[in-house]
Amino acid sequence: MASKVVGVREFDSLIPLLRDRGYDVIGPTVDEGTIVLDHVATSADLPIGWTDHHDKGTYSLDKRADEAYFGYAVGPRTFKRWLYPPRQTILTIEHAETGLVFKPEPTADERYAFVGVRACEIAAMEIQDRVFAHDAFADPHYVERRARSLIVGVNCAVAGETCFCDSMGTGPECTAGYDLVITEVVSGERHEFIVESGTDEGETILTELDGRPTTPADRKEVRTIIEDTAASMTRTMPKDETYSLLTENLEHPIWDSIAERCLNCTNCTLVCPTCFCSTMEDMTDLDGRAVRKRRWDSCFNREFTFLHGHAVRFTTKSRYRQWMTHKLAYWYDQFGTSGCVGCGRCITWCPAKIDITEEIAHLAEQTREEVAT
Ligand code: SF4
Ligand code: SF4
Repeated sequence: MASKVVGVREFDSLIPLLRDRGYDVIGPTVDEGTIVLDHVATSADLPIGWTDHHDKGTYSLDKRADEAYFGYAVGPRTFKRWLYPPRQTILTIEHAETGLVFKPEPTADERYAFVGVRACEIAAMEIQDRVFAHDAFADPHYVERRARSLIVGVNCAVAGETCFCDSMGTGPECTAGYDLVITEVVSGERHEFIVESGTDEGETILTELDGRPTTPADRKEVRTIIEDTAASMTRTMPKDETYSLLTENLEHPIWDSIAERCLNCTNCTLVCPTCFCSTMEDMTDLDGRAVRKRRWDSCFNREFTFLHGHAVRFTTKSRYRQWMTHKLAYWYDQFGTSGCVGCGRCITWCPAKIDITEEIAHLAEQTREEVAT
């Protein structure tokens, strides 16, 4: 595939170019002190000169000393909001002279260009593909949107303090699954974007951007940025140990300790790029028309497992244990992969400051001590 080094002015033509090609461009913006994904019309909508700080239950924005376009890690929104929207009409049922008419909702014809997609977010899309697209029960709405979407990835030059993608093998480098991938170089007077294509569509778009050919020094710069970002991560997850660690400790006291802190707020599941729990709502109007909608739900909601008059998981302990064991263990049985990509959002946006990496480390440590005594 092709690559090019593009200056700031030339890079500014990318978003209008994508819009001219019929894409609805979704990318990072600054809104109410947060970097959120939203519709963008020009580069001026991007979080130019902003960076983010993350910690357990803590998030803040700060000005950078430069004008970097992608100098932050991740915000609370994920691209699943567009591929798997929070509310989706599934079916309309109407009365006709011949009886009830069932009308499945037609698939929408949006074409999204997702700009600024981090490696962990591409990995999350590939995980959701296994849920929504690679099954006998594929979701046509997801399949259509995903097939029409264009991915403009970004190799991370900054890791959030809660990121741990390096230990999950999902970042900080975009290795596949993109149409274009950008590495932003901001150093002294230099501000350039090293852009590589990953598909024919990406290559066509790249030919329309003015720039110079990449050199071995540019490619070395990309490697250095990625390696420095990986080395800066302070959190890790023992990815290969989580299955046995969790499934062999379902009655460990650690679950009681977490349940004392967890508020069941559902934040962790709503910000997670791979979580996909949903519920169905049926609504009728006075004309006798019924509409069935799918809405995001969370396994932290007591009603989520409501069956035959009572909830199956009626304690916080059982719900948190379900979330973590599904994410880091049973997901392998179902989908052949971890359900976590190490984006760190569930740590940053947990008001109780529960940290999935810390809890796994505590469990590993306590089980080691139990074996030793
Ligand atoms: S479980 Fe947490 S760290 Fe893992 S993908 Fe979900 S939000 Fe990100
Ligand atoms: S773990 Fe944290 S974010 Fe998740 S439901 Fe509990 S309190 Fe909310």
